[in-house]
Amino acid sequence: MKVLVTGAGGFIGGHLVADFLADGHQVLTADIKPIGEWHQVHPKADNWDWFDLSGEAECLLACSGQDQVFNLAADMGGMGFIETHKAECMLSVLISTNMLVAARERGCYGYFYSSSACVYAADKQRDPAVTALRESDAYPAMPEDGYGWEKLFSERMCRHFWDDYGFETRVARFHNVYGPKGTYSGGREKAPAAICRKVIEAVQSGALEIDIWGDGEQTRSFMYIDDCVDGIRRIMTSNVRDPINLGSSELVSINELVDVVEEIAGVTLNRKYNLTAPQGVRGRNSDNTMIVDRLGWAPSTPLRKGMEATYTSILGEMLADE
Ligand code: NAD
Repeated sequence: MKVLVTGAGGFIGGHLVADFLADGHQVLTADIKPIGEWHQVHPKADNWDWFDLSGEAECLLACSGQDQVFNLAADMGGMGFIETHKAECMLSVLISTNMLVAARERGCYGYFYSSSACVYAADKQRDPAVTALRESDAYPAMPEDGYGWEKLFSERMCRHFWDDYGFETRVARFHNVYGPKGTYSGGREKAPAAICRKVIEAVQSGALEIDIWGDGEQTRSFMYIDDCVDGIRRIMTSNVRDPINLGSSELVSINELVDVVEEIAGVTLNRKYNLTAPQGVRGRNSDNTMIVDRLGWAPSTPLRKGMEATYTSILGEMLADE
């Protein structure tokens, strides 16, 4: 199969490309970043860097001759980024729209869109002891401002391309993906990687102190990258037409996540709570009823195991940078 992975210089894209190559597929990758900034570079793929997929012409070029398209390109990051860059997040609609149009125009027979749990309505996520979110909870719509609106709009466009043109699309709503070879500093990092970095810094500096965004009682679930890649590929070969949750249902508070990383590092840190930092919704978990029913599968890597691999990888990268 000829496969196009966009956003391949990013975290999830890099892992997905590795998986396709391991299975012997022919992979074209594209990302706006110069190749020196990609999280993973796979020499067996045809890698197009500095390639801006906001433009229609670029999308048409990238989709030419491809069987399937996996669109993971987006201008995004953790809460610290999406709460302060709403316009940039919404401009990803140019990528989502032009990629969808181009994939259909070029006769690709499958299109995967990476949506997000940020599409879910804010009033369903006000309690740390949150009821896990079912796919139907995205409506009536009141998603995360900026980023979530773009995702919800693009999801619906995928649906209407199937309804109106018979162009087959698959949409997964990712819930907080983490793992090795992702962003852990610079402002776009997400909580698991940020906490690993902060714990490592606290140990290395000897300060034994950690800054936590919010009161640490906000809850989330975190999906390990291998489960995410497996889930993407299973969803793509399924007959699921509607957006589907792809996330872990192991709910933890941020304080509990810090407990896990402290245990891995073998330290106990003094916690300083920054109540004015971006925190996102109060509680969010993935209801996996639909993915279990439809695919007979759900993400399963325990948080402790996935965080150990993530911590080890970030520690290795930080030591190599010294
Ligand atoms: P990432 O930021 O690591 O990767 C996204 C990549 O897209 C980046 O390398 C970036 O350079 C590239 N990109 C941005 N604008 C581009 C453009 N105009 N043209 C070409 N490339 C462009 O993010 P990720 O964590 O790998 O996420 C992949 C997808 O999954 C995104 O659509 C994201 O919104 C979605 N998602 C991720 C998570 C998560 O927890 N990581 C959760 C929900 C949804």
